Amino acid sequence: MKIFCVGRNYSEHAKELNNDIPTAPVIFMKPNTALLTDNKDFYFPNFTNDLHYECEIVLRICKNGKSVNEKFASAYYDAITVGIDFTARDLQQQQKEKGLPWEIAKAFDNSAVIGTWKTISTEEKATPLLFSLKKNNEVVQQGNTEDLLFSFEKIIAYVSQFFTLNMGDLIFTGTPKGVGPVAIGDTLCALLREEELLRFAIK
Ligand code: MG
Repeated sequence: MKIFCVGRNYSEHAKELNNDIPTAPVIFMKPNTALLTDNKDFYFPNFTNDLHYECEIVLRICKNGKSVNEKFASAYYDAITVGIDFTARDLQQQQKEKGLPWEIAKAFDNSAVIGTWKTISTEEKATPLLFSLKKNNEVVQQGNTEDLLFSFEKIIAYVSQFFTLNMGDLIFTGTPKGVGPVAIGDTLCALLREEELLRFAIK
């Protein structure tokens, strides 16, 4: 199973981190040891002092594909959820300044948190999705997939040019503005529309 992630896919988020608006999707990957499921506690790692949440819609790939045409790309995912792309922002900044890869800041253990899967119909795929993140019951991020720079279909088409997609692969589709730090004792709760799909504690 592969975990793909898209960076800078909402222009307001790219701006808040002083990044340029990308002209092609920014893709990175996480290993399967990054996955955290079932609302399990997240343990704050000792290698960062600035751990950020990034709430994102996550797609579940449902068939194998290579160089998928954008026109047919929506058939390649069958379920969605909300997730957190945890980022050690201090390490990421150091790596970016040196022009080095991001993995230690993005792909560490438990850095890819996912909620309960919801199957998605063809009609729903054509409708904008609203999602949000609450930290300690206060809304800190609100996203609308209408604001995506690269649609789910564009992402699938792009990624599959380089990497064969396999059933069960996941794609984190990018975070809207409002990213911020978490601390031990916080609770994160992510919603798709009004439905809570993820709730877990930082320990
Ligand atoms: Mg992200």
